[in-house]
Amino acid sequence: MSLIVQKYGGTSVGSAERVKNVARRVARWKAKGHQLVVVVSAMAGETNRLIALAREVQPHPDPRELDVMVSTGEQVTIALLAMALMDMGVRARSYTGGQLRILTDSAHTKARIVSIDESRIRRDLADDCVVVVAGFQGVNEKGDITTLGRGGSDTTGVALAAALGADECQIYTDVDGVYTTDPRIVPEARRLKTITFEEMLEMASLGSKVLQIRSVELAGKYRVPLRVLSSFEEESEGTLITFEEDQNMEQATISGIAFNRDEAKVTILGVPDRPGIAYQILGPIGDANIDVDMIVQNVSHDGLTDFSFTVNRADYHKTLKLLEPVVKHIKARGVEGGDKIAKVSVVGVGMRSHAGIASSAFRTLAEEGINIEMISTSEIKISIVINEKYMELAVRALHKAFGLEQPT
Ligand code: ADP
Ligand code: ASP
Ligand code: MG
Repeated sequence: MSLIVQKYGGTSVGSAERVKNVARRVARWKAKGHQLVVVVSAMAGETNRLIALAREVQPHPDPRELDVMVSTGEQVTIALLAMALMDMGVRARSYTGGQLRILTDSAHTKARIVSIDESRIRRDLADDCVVVVAGFQGVNEKGDITTLGRGGSDTTGVALAAALGADECQIYTDVDGVYTTDPRIVPEARRLKTITFEEMLEMASLGSKVLQIRSVELAGKYRVPLRVLSSFEEESEGTLITFEEDQNMEQATISGIAFNRDEAKVTILGVPDRPGIAYQILGPIGDANIDVDMIVQNVSHDGLTDFSFTVNRADYHKTLKLLEPVVKHIKARGVEGGDKIAKVSVVGVGMRSHAGIASSAFRTLAEEGINIEMISTSEIKISIVINEKYMELAVRALHKAFGLEQPT
């Protein structure tokens, strides 16, 4: 008998029929003698609908109230799934994050889980119940409802699996695993049988939203066996997230291509090149809680340089505003920028031992006539910022150049 945590995403519980479909799958696992904790998301589109509704009333919704509101999406689906299970004769009980004391910090709309009280879950499991848990939500010390950021139900699933010492955490979604790139953009993308935690972490942080990044971090930290599977297909074994030392020898050099349209680029022109300047520019940005991603400082000419960085697109206008006094103060020539950019990244642990990956990527983009605006690299990834309108072309070209398509 194993203890299994399953998480079903929005599309998988998008209608009454689909909730029943999930219940049938859960019932089958239960019938095999396993103990099950099932995390569900809100029905597809519901979280977006609630956020839009809030914005109609308050253009920048109060974060505490927004959490009260968006957490209702998951409260609907847990009850529906518990009812569907009962209707099949399976004992089930549903819980909100607050009821299970999924304790988080107070960072409303992007809270982090601090601890989980598993005693109630253990009692129900011992009572032969399937425990159904609302994803994406918790409560802070004061008992206020918090949410974990978009895609946060993945993190609820992994956190529960870690807390319970589950044998496996299964993430059921609308694709049957992690692909070499988003199959919606490149139909030739191939499902990966395995991917390392490190690569999955890069893919998730670089834009592949099949798993929320925090869920991957948690799974890596607590060594939770994590698998991505389809809730619509029976046969596929999905993708197992593995540790590098468990990988086989024929591991491909490149595992996947990630992309992200959520960034904007800012350049400060004619910056006097002297110690402390990067801090003077980026200090106020950090103080305003804005995350900076790529940073590039050009070689200086006549004591002046250009300084560029990227931020989340939602923070673009705020960043420009914050820089106005800075530019005056440091006597730079001005600021320019744009939010019509995209970041495309090539990811693979094999890069560590293979030279020439960067030059192959640059050649591929050159052949397509795509201009590179910024580059950043780490041991296992190369990220390139380009004009947004070439993003899909770049992803397809790189996917092909690195031989990632399905064998025909
Ligand atoms: P859920 O609602 O089940 O959480 P998501 O929409 O969050 O589902 O994640 C699944 C989607 O992630 C897929 O439909 C796919 O379009 C997208 N995706 C992006 N990159 C990848 C990738 N590399 N492999 C698989 N799916 C990906
Ligand atoms: N319902 C939330 C969202 O849409 C959480 C999730 O689906 O994981 O972001
Ligand atoms: Mg998701």
